[in-house]
Amino acid sequence: MPSKDGRRFDRHNPADPQELVARFALGGAADVAAAVAAAKQAFPAWRDLPMPARGVIIAAAGRIMARRAEELAQALTWEEGKALAESRQEVGRAIGYLEFIAGEGRRLNSDVMPADAPGLNYTRRKPLGVVGLITPWNFPVNIPTLKSAPALLAGNTVVLKPSELSPLTAAILAEIYTEAGVPAGVFNLVQGAEEAGKALVAHPDVKAITFTGSTEVGRHINQQAAARFAKCQLEMGGKNPSIILEDADLDRAAADVALGGFSVSGQRCNANSLVFVARSVFDAFAAKLIDKAKAIKVGHGLDETVHMGPLVEPSARERVQGYLDRARADGAQVLFSAEVPAGEGYFLGPTVVTGLPASHAICCEELFGPVIALVPVDGMEEAIGHANQLPYGLASSVYTRDVAKAMRYSETMESGLLHINCPTTVSELQMPYGGLKESGHGGREMGRYGLEFFTELQAVYLRY
Ligand code: NAD
Repeated sequence: MPSKDGRRFDRHNPADPQELVARFALGGAADVAAAVAAAKQAFPAWRDLPMPARGVIIAAAGRIMARRAEELAQALTWEEGKALAESRQEVGRAIGYLEFIAGEGRRLNSDVMPADAPGLNYTRRKPLGVVGLITPWNFPVNIPTLKSAPALLAGNTVVLKPSELSPLTAAILAEIYTEAGVPAGVFNLVQGAEEAGKALVAHPDVKAITFTGSTEVGRHINQQAAARFAKCQLEMGGKNPSIILEDADLDRAAADVALGGFSVSGQRCNANSLVFVARSVFDAFAAKLIDKAKAIKVGHGLDETVHMGPLVEPSARERVQGYLDRARADGAQVLFSAEVPAGEGYFLGPTVVTGLPASHAICCEELFGPVIALVPVDGMEEAIGHANQLPYGLASSVYTRDVAKAMRYSETMESGLLHINCPTTVSELQMPYGGLKESGHGGREMGRYGLEFFTELQAVYLRY
């Protein structure tokens, strides 16, 4: 459908920027207003459909996504760049969550409590109305699914504004919901960029905004939403430290850190780009990590032999290069830096640096690239001390065989996701997902917890 003012935008393949992937209508405030009006009109009938019946439709969406999984994975790699195996894994997770949340349609229950007079007290969960979803490009299938499926199941109608860097996968998701039987006006898609996102946040009929993206944009959205008392859920940036203690299984730790730091080209909110290593095992761990980095093949994500695709756009690569240039100028040692394929793709290979204090920008700021900084420490308390200074608090990990240390880590580390002997990138569909401090605000996603944001709790007093 064309936008109200006829504007369009193009998305090119980041592995081969001459190749046009998609051309879509560029939505603005008028398009957002039309989508919100459609969602508002569709709300009463969708709300009144019993929740199990909404669950049946979500389950159908899961089956259709499973049928279209390979098409969706290829589209994802084509427009965003990640390796095909990573895209398949992402699509698999989205299917899993559709299946999970569909079942909640028969489980979401309320509390029944004693009453002070003859009768019954109970709680009920009610949908909010029209909900705005604003999503990033780095998991363009999974994140819109993680938000839209619980929002719809709970009885809300939605307007999705995906990233302008990943429009194709969002368009396929919209087709899947339509084929599954989601009625017209219940799921609405507005393709566009900042302008459309701002219009969605500002619209008075949008009762809640759920956003995943950078902390900078999240902060802005939070302020705008708060001014009109709209509910707001923010999943934002991260700088996720791993701690390798002297009794760690170093092979396992090196494999996990390589996965956590280099998968999806380091472009993930839970990437472990900062690793504190006990001094006594520093050299041994670094050697094992470099071996893992050397085994990674960088290239066009649609090539089945490739492990790591390009960064998403030229400015992303320039940004990460800027951090590396500054680190070198400040005396960093580059322990490993991979060769990248020739051509115009926005490639940057796995890189391992050390020799800088924990206070350096490369150790404190979100890079969103395949760079891991190693910092030697004298023990876990020192590492946690540094880690808790970070403004972020999304994920972290510790590698140790000492149960007391593992327990102490889980008690004192300030992160929403805690990993003991597994990568910072581990997150399972049935578990809550979200960060502390500048990484997250306003409630968890995933599992049954993912439904809470999309409902209001009412108290019912029944007397007889
Ligand atoms: P971004 O903040 O630039 O954009 C995210 C979305 O917001 C896009 O759809 C964009 O068009 C829209 N937008 C931009 N400005 C806006 C505004 N003023 N008002 C409303 N909408 C606006 O983020 P990105 O580059 O797409 O994604 C990368 C970031 O996302 C990283 O910081 C990463 O850590 C974070 N992220 C977090 C999680 C998590 O679960 N915590 C998951 C994935 C990504």
